[in-house]
Amino acid sequence: MAKNYYELLGIPRDADEKQIRMAYRRLARKYHPDVNSGEDDSANRFKEVNEANEVLSNAESRKLYDRYGDNWRQVQQHGPGAATSRRRGPGGGDPFGGMFGGADIGSMFGNIFGGGGRRGSERPRQQRPAPLEQQIEITLDEAFKGTTHALQVTGQTACTRCGGTGIAEGAACPECLSQGFSYQPVRGEVAIPAGVDNGSRVRVTPGGQQVVLVVQVQAHPKFQRKAADLYTEVSVPLYDIVLGTEVVVPTMTGQVALTLPPESQNGRVFRLGGQGMPKLGSTTDRGTLYVTIKSELPTSLTDEERGLFEQLKSLRKETGGQDDK
Ligand SMILES: [Zn+2]
Repeated sequence: MAKNYYELLGIPRDADEKQIRMAYRRLARKYHPDVNSGEDDSANRFKEVNEANEVLSNAESRKLYDRYGDNWRQVQQHGPGAATSRRRGPGGGDPFGGMFGGADIGSMFGNIFGGGGRRGSERPRQQRPAPLEQQIEITLDEAFKGTTHALQVTGQTACTRCGGTGIAEGAACPECLSQGFSYQPVRGEVAIPAGVDNGSRVRVTPGGQQVVLVVQVQAHPKFQRKAADLYTEVSVPLYDIVLGTEVVVPTMTGQVALTLPPESQNGRVFRLGGQGMPKLGSTTDRGTLYVTIKSELPTSLTDEERGLFEQLKSLRKETGGQDDK
């Protein structure tokens, strides 16, 4: 059950706004769930400290609390402007279909991480908490197909006992100390859409906590990427380049055969439209795969082979053909 809010914050009854704010910030940092992961006592202390700060930092609720103690909320309920605003709507702002349960609301996180905290009569819960940024690394294949990322954050979930109203059986809800929510680990899978690139930002809002996943795509042994286009090299023996052949080119989904006409030049680039990366937000639109032909020149020639090359060279002189470099 709630202790005396002044004792919780370790401040005198006549503390001014600044003293309350300083005490709150110090304790909130100390007990913040992201710092004390998994420690139940810290989570409870954090909740209590938040509750105490919320009540005491608001001149109106502080007056009620000083007068009525723990019953102040019920008094407030029956007074003008009943606290129905405690009821929360369903989660919003999740572009990937709300894979996280829980309510989407602001919290006091902003007081710690938001910078330039607003104060005075403005209620802290109207602020959005500062987004947490998390780097994730995925493979090029995952960027090609889209993937999911398992995420766990400390977020607010609506109290099941009071349904988020803060009032249970006509009294302050003992489960959530009438806050209407509790801080719980919120787990979920975040969908990373196909086509993401280095620096792509995927935003989700699990349990009211905004999270920005910043994507990093690993280098691929075969493909280099520029936006939606891919680049690869295929090595082909000199004779096949001269005589013409069919080469097998790797793609993101398998391989394709490419007809190399006779007398193709070293470094020739083939464009395979639609074999690049998917464009973000599209399932059908894909970039181009650029294939560069690289000739493999023979080494460790036998005497006979060397003789044949010499023969070829003198023949080319006689016929007036131009030697390629
Ligand atoms: Zn409750």
